[in-house]
Parts: sequence; structure tokens; C-alpha cells
Amino acid sequence: MNTLTQLHADIEARVGTIRDDNLDWLCRMGCDGCCRRLAEVPRLTAEEWDLLRDGLAALPPEQLLEIGRNIAALAEQSSRPIVCPLLDRSAGACQVYVHRPVACRTYGFYVQRDKGLYCKDIESRVADGGWAEVVWGNQDAVDRRLCGLGETRDLTEWFARWKEAGYVA
Ligand code: SF4
Repeated sequence: MNTLTQLHADIEARVGTIRDDNLDWLCRMGCDGCCRRLAEVPRLTAEEWDLLRDGLAALPPEQLLEIGRNIAALAEQSSRPIVCPLLDRSAGACQVYVHRPVACRTYGFYVQRDKGLYCKDIESRVADGGWAEVVWGNQDAVDRRLCGLGETRDLTEWFARWKEAGYVA
């Protein structure tokens, strides 16, 4: 079965094991390093967007307006890295954590054949000899499963379409 719910459950099983076995693991609540240093605008499949949109729609109107302003600014920004427009910058917390994309769930726990680890803080701990027993997740396998979850677009594009459809001010 390849549903988004099943994919989330499989990722959580891997992530939970790594976290439970390594109490000093860096990727946990309170760390927003990757949210503040995104290489590109997040890309989501249609199913991921449907879930994220539910999370956005449940936010207080002022919060959603602020996110809309952040996304509009991002569409104009050419420099990289970028701060995720869904991050509450003062609290350092994701405003749609339960509804966040798959990439946010695997970052820091999964490796990709041609790109290695993503989180540089974790990578440097590994380079220093830490966490030698960790069984990493396979990001290539996750990406293959994501291919079956609908077309992929930039967050800015999904949001603009939603706005055009009149669902957001
Ligand atoms: S969606 Fe949430 S968890 Fe993902 S990068 Fe943005 S703020 Fe961070």
C-alpha cells in the first residue's frame, strides 16, 4: 500500500527508532536549523499539498495572511538559502507541523545515494565518529513512493492556485 498516511507511518517508525536509540539526536523539537536554511522553495506532491492546505485552512486568519505575505515575498526572492514561509520565526516552530511535507519528516534521518546526508550539523557529528550504529532511512525509496502521490509543484505555486480559487484572502 502506498498512501501518504502509510508513508508517514513508515517514516515515523524509522525516525522514532533513531531518536529513541540516540537521546542526543539533534533533529527534534526545538531545532529549526533546516527550516531557516532551505536550499530551494519546498516542493510537494498533490497529496502532500492537500494535507498541508488543511493545516493552513485551520490557522487563525491573521496567521494565514502572514504566511501568504511570506510566500509572496519568497516568490520574488532570488537569493538562497531561504527561510521557510511556514516557520514561526520568533518561536522557531513550524506552524503546520502535523501537516508538514514528507521532506521535513525525513530530513536529518535519511540519506540519498548521490547527495548523502542533508543536515550539515548531523553530518559533522558523523564525520567526528558519532552515531556509527545508526541505520539511516533510504531517501531514494521515499522519493519513488512520492512519485505515486500526484503531480509535484513548488509550495509558492500550490498556494497561488489556492488563492486564485478564492480560498484565502
Ligand atoms: S514546513 Fe515546517 S518543518 Fe518544514 S521546513 Fe517549513 S517550517 Fe520547517
